[in-house]
Amino acid sequence: MQGQAKHPRLERFAEICKASHLKVTPQRMAIYRELLISTEHPTVDAMFQIVKKEFPNISYDTVSRTMLTFAQIGIADIAEVYGGAKRFDPDVADHHHLHCVSCGNIIDFHNDQYNNLDIPDEVRQNFRVLSSRVVFKGICEKCATTP
Ligand SMILES: [Zn+2]
Ligand SMILES: [Zn+2]
Repeated sequence: MQGQAKHPRLERFAEICKASHLKVTPQRMAIYRELLISTEHPTVDAMFQIVKKEFPNISYDTVSRTMLTFAQIGIADIAEVYGGAKRFDPDVADHHHLHCVSCGNIIDFHNDQYNNLDIPDEVRQNFRVLSSRVVFKGICEKCATTP
């Protein structure tokens, strides 16, 4: 790694890989870096298109496996998508999503109240809730203004 400005989470990448017995390769580093700066909840294919500019020989499969590994070791999340390609989320902290039904965009939003939702008793009785997220479906600003 040269002395370029680093994302704080990128600095911890090597540490996390080590703890997960994952070798730190320039390719893995690049995939993680690009995922961190992405705001699109990218698919594997979107990430592949970006990373192959830097590593022309990288395979789709490598990008796919790497991103699934990131999700497994907890440094990325897979967004809730019903059908269609998996969408990856670099933000593993509490946040919520707006899904545009027109362009498929997933937009993050934050809300403290939603982070602390009251779980109804009838849910709690038969279901151990591990996490929750509020999802609004609708039309994004861009789609609403495009005729
Ligand atoms: Zn849209
Ligand atoms: Zn998100």
